[in-house]
Amino acid sequence: MSLYGGVEGGGTKWECAIGTGPDDVRAAATVPTTTPAETIGAIVEFFLREGPVDAVGIGSFGPLDARPGSATWGYVTTTPKRGWQNADVGQEIRRRLGVPVAFDTDVNAAALGEHRWGSGRGLRSIWYVTVGTGIGGGAVVDGQLLHGLSHPEFGHLRVPHDRAADPFPGSCPYHGDCLEGLASGTALEARWGCAADEIEDDAAWALEARYLALGLLATVAVLSPERIVVGGGVARHPGLLQRVQGELTTLMNGYLGFELPTGYVTEPALGARAGVLGAIALAETAAAT
Ligand code: ZN
Repeated sequence: MSLYGGVEGGGTKWECAIGTGPDDVRAAATVPTTTPAETIGAIVEFFLREGPVDAVGIGSFGPLDARPGSATWGYVTTTPKRGWQNADVGQEIRRRLGVPVAFDTDVNAAALGEHRWGSGRGLRSIWYVTVGTGIGGGAVVDGQLLHGLSHPEFGHLRVPHDRAADPFPGSCPYHGDCLEGLASGTALEARWGCAADEIEDDAAWALEARYLALGLLATVAVLSPERIVVGGGVARHPGLLQRVQGELTTLMNGYLGFELPTGYVTEPALGARAGVLGAIALAETAAAT
């Protein structure tokens, strides 16, 4: 039986695991995000020590190059993360471990994990969203991650912004008041002056639910996913997802002709492990090609 390595790369830490799925994780480690050389070195060392593995899946923070055949496939590209611009992650790990490597966004990995083993199990299509420091989204359609020109950049969708009701200009360095600029953890902290998990004002959460629902409305209109799974630290605020579904229902205004199913907007069943387990599911796809 094949054994897979999963790597989930974030701005502060990289989670590594070896196994075949949620019920079979044989080894795990957390590596701090320092320099690419140091971090990648520690990841490779973990797999050499705890392996061998037959393939590795990497779900990384981005933006990144996941285009098959591209000379810079496997690179983190224009990230604002210091020292990580144009860092080769995928090719370096593939070269040093000598096994097939799948490389995608952290959000796409989590989407695949949730579809395979979590809240999207058995469905043909899901839209996975993370609302944390940033906002991202990934789609699984007929069991496959949706790719195209690049990878989805859901956070940078423009949503209606009533500046009279919400004068906050937005926190995105590229767009100001895109969805991420208005509703990410970074935006909440900048607007309200404290971390998202310390915000108690109900009006703040009503506004948050409204913005997230505006973003999700666009994905429902374009992709018509069977379920929307929302992970990330901000999404864990009690009652937020039910409120988002309520706002989404209001915004759609009966257009579908039927009610959204209860739990249409739901939390990831794999919780914080969605990313690293999804990376194991990614590894499986690399081994199969
Ligand atoms: Zn933006």
